[in-house]
Amino acid sequence: MSIMEIFETMDYGPAPEASSLALAWIKEHQPFQLFINNQWTAPAKETYFESSNPATGKGITKVAAADKADVDKAVAAARKAFPSWSKTPGHVRARYLYAIARHIQKHARLLAVLESLDNGKTIRETRDIDIPLVARHFYYHAGWAQLMETELSGYQPVGVVGQIIPWNFPLLMLAWKIAPALAMGNTVVLKPARYTSLTALKFAEIMQEVGLPAGVVNIVTGEASKAGDALVNHPDIDKIAFTGSTDVGRSIRKATAGSGKKLSLELGGKSPFIVFDDADLDSVVEGVVDAIWFNQGQVCCAGSRLLVQENIAERLINKLRARMENLRIGDPLDKAMDIGAIVSPGQREEIQHLVDIGVKEGAQMWQPSTACPTEGSFFPPTLFTNVAPASTLAQVEIFGPVLVTLTFRTPAEAVEIANNTRYGLAASIWSDNINLALDIAPKVKAGSVWVNCTNQFDAACGFGGYRESGYGREGGKEGLYEYVKPAWLNVHHGRSSSAKAVAQAEEQQATANGSAAVHTDELEEFNTTDSHVGYGFPPIDRTPKLFIGGKQARPDSGYSLTITGAAGRVLGEVGEGNRKDIRNAVEAAHKASGWSATSAHNRAQILYYIAENLGARESEFARRIVDQTGRTYADALNEVQTSLSRLFSYAAWTDKFEGSVHLPPLRGAVLAMKEAIGVIGMACPDDYPLLGFISLVAPAIAMGNTVVAIPSPRAPFSATDCYQIFETSDVPAGVINIVTGERETLSKVLAEHHDVNSMWYFGTAEGSKAVELASTSNMKRTWVNYGRSRNWLDRIQGEGEEFLREATQVKNIWVPYGE
Ligand code: NDP
Repeated sequence: MSIMEIFETMDYGPAPEASSLALAWIKEHQPFQLFINNQWTAPAKETYFESSNPATGKGITKVAAADKADVDKAVAAARKAFPSWSKTPGHVRARYLYAIARHIQKHARLLAVLESLDNGKTIRETRDIDIPLVARHFYYHAGWAQLMETELSGYQPVGVVGQIIPWNFPLLMLAWKIAPALAMGNTVVLKPARYTSLTALKFAEIMQEVGLPAGVVNIVTGEASKAGDALVNHPDIDKIAFTGSTDVGRSIRKATAGSGKKLSLELGGKSPFIVFDDADLDSVVEGVVDAIWFNQGQVCCAGSRLLVQENIAERLINKLRARMENLRIGDPLDKAMDIGAIVSPGQREEIQHLVDIGVKEGAQMWQPSTACPTEGSFFPPTLFTNVAPASTLAQVEIFGPVLVTLTFRTPAEAVEIANNTRYGLAASIWSDNINLALDIAPKVKAGSVWVNCTNQFDAACGFGGYRESGYGREGGKEGLYEYVKPAWLNVHHGRSSSAKAVAQAEEQQATANGSAAVHTDELEEFNTTDSHVGYGFPPIDRTPKLFIGGKQARPDSGYSLTITGAAGRVLGEVGEGNRKDIRNAVEAAHKASGWSATSAHNRAQILYYIAENLGARESEFARRIVDQTGRTYADALNEVQTSLSRLFSYAAWTDKFEGSVHLPPLRGAVLAMKEAIGVIGMACPDDYPLLGFISLVAPAIAMGNTVVAIPSPRAPFSATDCYQIFETSDVPAGVINIVTGERETLSKVLAEHHDVNSMWYFGTAEGSKAVELASTSNMKRTWVNYGRSRNWLDRIQGEGEEFLREATQVKNIWVPYGE
């Protein structure tokens, strides 16, 4: 097109970014090797795969394909580097992270072009969004490395971390994973996605430039079935961090179940973009462009479901179509392009396949008349109307530039449709009524909620999902906990090895509770003798029922289990709960979900009330513990008093475990709200029948969850004795439900249940594995002990923020200011 023609048509002229620098860099390095122990290392089998440019379909270069032997080598390098890196002072780690950020900025142009060539995304996005955010992540986490010692005292790095990232934001996902891992003192083996390895390899070169110690970061390129699989299953990896599809996330959960590997999963989404009739529709249109055509819609949190209030639907759709006619699709390196190429022909076909299904299912498709390049993997922006809420289009993640539209009439209906998905990653809410927007935000089940904006990201603001969008957060302080573990875990492994520490803690606790100190010799005695049995009750002549929906309920089976004391003396019977009882209990727990909306003050009052009522029956509860466990009376009394103190602690925490306000580079604020998870299933430990039960139930309900608890099967009476206490303490019906019975069977049912949002399990190693496996049904969060006991009497191990964090999830609500 001549300049005169451009002038006359007022059309955009070509504005290509030069690729010569990037191509020269590629040429100099090819074929690309693996980056292990700071060395470029040829793959053991000398195999390479081709990486191509999605905009042309032509090969760019060859990249090493790692297999198991290479992954072993990388993990060994990371393991070797761990002791010294984890002990490197925070300030020194901060200096490295700072240097990485500076070098990213120095190479920003090369990185932006490489990313565009390799992935097909527009240079406008890589230059203005991806790469600046990458640098920001390293700066931000340099700060956390500096502050770790004081701000995360009591925590240690997890160890060697395996990280697997997708192709949609290749370098950004690397930064989200590597920055917090290094800041917290871990070493890393990272596998980029097969389609997009190049910026990770340039990043490896930057590691050499900044002089990062060998083995701290290792990059193994390769295929999922070889490199990915070897990383997930490697026995010397302490944590896996994964971003990608929900199906692969599910298979990784299965593969790592019971291994003790920490796991964070950032998975798919089908995020709602909710438009109320008072919204500024021109802003909405630009918002939609950013929501679904940003990165060709290949964004896990893309606003792919447009929910419009019915009375403005037609007006908005017309405006949207007009805007779509003006979207420019083509060469990603052209600075004037809005939409680039889809990452691969396979992914393009998958989008086409889902679009065809949508048309067959009766939805109406519309695409603009603008020409779409025929060479390379391009897909035009696509709009669907007349979409049924249960149709494939409305339910399945398309991961392409395809928007589906649904309508609603009332705010309540909007929330219902928004939540009618198995995912829960993000949501946008558009309204000029801030009261309405902030009322809807907590009701939408999503980890990030953007008010009058969309697709905002920052290192300070945690990102991650609810439900089948995964668990764990990346960014913010909450993201750091994915890369640390409590320091006491390294010290105490199991009750027997920590008897002395247990004794000390008990003594301290007893002193704090004002009761007579428990002596070590008495403690040792309770493990071996039954001499104190008989101190308590005569055998129980009635069988406690289950506690469901605030009422005592007979078990469905009609059967009961005989409970014997420490010396084999029959103490009584409890109901044998089954699948149906669990179902009823979960239903009751759901019905009580209004508990989360009760004010924190009121929840605290109820916890104090429970403590008060328990205090009135202290000696009776202590004697019951003696009967069930054969421990000394003083020891049992200490357990009751510690339980009481624990209830006080969580009553105190209800209005103090608060969220925060983040300050990203934005005119506005981000409210990080800690929300209840929902229904938590919990299998209580045997070690301390009352304290174990209270230590789990109290934080969960303090944070607004409702619970279904399985008491210790060996000593269930301490929990069943609480029925009357709950009944007389104003605990609303359904907030606490108790099903006695066989722990492993009932735990599995709870872990499989689709309406249970999280499962806590404190039992055996095998039981922990079974719970992790069963949790994949709806990808619920799990918290298990892998058969290791903790000292429930100890305040650090038995109560506090670890429990509160497990009882909450963080939602970040972005609220920009200004007209
Ligand atoms: P995957 O989830 O398959 O891939 C993501 C990463 O995981 C890649 O590095 C991949 O390696 C690796 N991987 C795949 N399977 C395994 C495994 N069994 N063990 C270990 N690592 C594995 O995503 P796809 O690229 O196949 O995309 C498919 C769909 O996933 C998309 O259409 C989209 O719906 C969704 N998706 C969601 C993303 C998100 O951010 N939520 C990101 C990407 C995709 P390799 O590249 O070698 O296959």
